[in-house]
Amino acid sequence: SNRTFTMIKPDATRKGDTGAILNHIVKAGFTVKAMKWTKLTAEQAGLFYEIHKERPFYGELVEFMSSGPIVAAILEKENAVADFRKLIGATNPAQAEEGTIRKLYAASVGENAVHGSDSDENAAIEGDFFFSKLERF
Ligand code: ATP
Repeated sequence: SNRTFTMIKPDATRKGDTGAILNHIVKAGFTVKAMKWTKLTAEQAGLFYEIHKERPFYGELVEFMSSGPIVAAILEKENAVADFRKLIGATNPAQAEEGTIRKLYAASVGENAVHGSDSDENAAIEGDFFFSKLERF
């Protein structure tokens, strides 16, 4: 598919990096199809990351993701899922390639600035979590 879903996470919105990260994404050729600035409750963050609920970092992840504002967006580009994961870099910024968004803006494996869907199927599920049909084009 040609769409992916992203969140700019609370560490990045808190540091004032939202504009720079969005600029990076758009300059890389992604078109924003839907976008909102919002804040997740712990319950909503828990639902979004339900797939990780057995992982040891789940509680920490839910607490972090509900700790401040986020930006959720649906992005379009050819080969969107794979190209976006390349643009953001490895989950752990210490292992992320130079020039990637996580290398530039993330501090740790937990507080890693951005989310990017890992499959076309999850991109659709995650986009639907945040946006109604009327909110995307
Ligand atoms: P995302 O799904 O956010 O794009 P990812 O696919 O690169 O990240 P996952 O392994 O799916 O990474 O983990 C989901 C999120 O959980 C990570 O982005 C990070 O915020 C958090 N996380 C992953 N590993 C750890 C860890 N060891 N300690 C704390 N938080 C972690």
